[in-house]
Amino acid sequence: RNDLDVLPPLGTLARGEPIQVFAAPPGTPAKPQIARAMGIEMWDTAGNRYLDASSGPVACNLGYGNRRVLDALTSQAEAAAFANVSHFESKANRDFAERLAEAAGPGYERVFVVSGGSEANEAALKLARQIALSRGEASRWKVISRQPSYHGGTLGALAITGDPSAHAMFGPMLQEMPKVPAPVTYRIPAGLDEENWALKCAQDLEDRVVAEGPESVLAFIQEPVGGVSTGALVTPAAYMTRVREICDKYGILLIHDEVMSGGGRTGAFLSHDHWPDCRADLIVMAKGIGAGYLPLGLVLAPRDLVETVASGGGFLHGHTALGNPLSCAVGLAVLEETLERGLVERSAVLGAELKTRLWDMANRYPIIGDVRGKGLLMAVEFVADPATKRPFPIEAAVPAAVSRIAMQNGLILYTRGTNAGRDGDWVMVSPPLVTSDRELDEITDRLEKSLSQAEAEFSS
Ligand code: PLP
Repeated sequence: RNDLDVLPPLGTLARGEPIQVFAAPPGTPAKPQIARAMGIEMWDTAGNRYLDASSGPVACNLGYGNRRVLDALTSQAEAAAFANVSHFESKANRDFAERLAEAAGPGYERVFVVSGGSEANEAALKLARQIALSRGEASRWKVISRQPSYHGGTLGALAITGDPSAHAMFGPMLQEMPKVPAPVTYRIPAGLDEENWALKCAQDLEDRVVAEGPESVLAFIQEPVGGVSTGALVTPAAYMTRVREICDKYGILLIHDEVMSGGGRTGAFLSHDHWPDCRADLIVMAKGIGAGYLPLGLVLAPRDLVETVASGGGFLHGHTALGNPLSCAVGLAVLEETLERGLVERSAVLGAELKTRLWDMANRYPIIGDVRGKGLLMAVEFVADPATKRPFPIEAAVPAAVSRIAMQNGLILYTRGTNAGRDGDWVMVSPPLVTSDRELDEITDRLEKSLSQAEAEFSS
């Protein structure tokens, strides 16, 4: 008997229910089905055209259908789709690591390739722990992070993620980790300017280190330019400088989570390059470096730190997809395309123009309270009253509503699901780095139309 004969027709289960990857809550509207995508345009199977103004989840830096990436992917797949790192080296892995380390600039010579951002953060934590062990500092294990922040969905990455609603749902964590307030710039307490507020937040970090016992603190992790957790918060310079000083003072490793901000998105290859006096010890990347073509994440580290663990048998961490040649071939092609086409610089220029237009819309649509970000890592925050910065009630789920309206207008924005327990209402407006001037016009036209409809919906 051929098993295919007994399979239900494609798209339905035997009971006639639609097949779903996840069981969506009842009442969840059906999503359009993707048919094809090219450049920053996407079409569904009903023939509707969309402009991707968020690079998917702020990942698809090159847009879709990039010829160079597809060619690299197919030729590597034909040559050797897989090679186990315990048996073989791969040229793809070596070339990618070399080019990436070069792009990252002096001081980061080692690249450890995994499959995504959460996994890369997990790897960075284990590497940090092994570095401490090699230095005879076994007492160091706590990792302090910011509140709010996002470092991934796996349990280790979630433990260092500053999202109380996720902790409430999935807790107890395998191990809770200390959090300190992020230097959120939109609602600075009365009587403080941005710099004083930033310094106060940095002082909170130092106080926390002291309270925890400095000898127990392994690392501090932060997003130099935030993603969806803070709506593209650009960390104030005074905070960055103090953070590096505090980490040095207490022998704490500084980890920069550049999963969303790295790879050129903020107008620098690494967003921390915007703050030359705050260099991280370890850097975590994902999203844009694979540009959505394949899962790809990595940890970047200085040679001497990696050598610290060499005597202990090297970094003891592994996954089936470690250094995956296909992902590395994609990563190399994405990197070459990004650098050769000047897309890092393009992101800075286009981001500045986008920011000007978004602020112009903020003047006309009071639903916009703030516009934040660097380069094409940009977010718009919504408020019920821009004068007082009063947020909308949580049940209004404004970002989800704006995203829905935008999608009806053929514009893709990115936000956090239903946002229960969220820290603010924002959507990411972060188009691919290859967006043309004409496409930017079309994005802003469609966004403006969506905002005027949202304004009508929420002011009535
Ligand atoms: N870190 C940051 C800053 C992110 O934005 C994300 C994902 O949005 C992650 C980590 C997790 O990456 P991934 O979804 O690839 O596991």
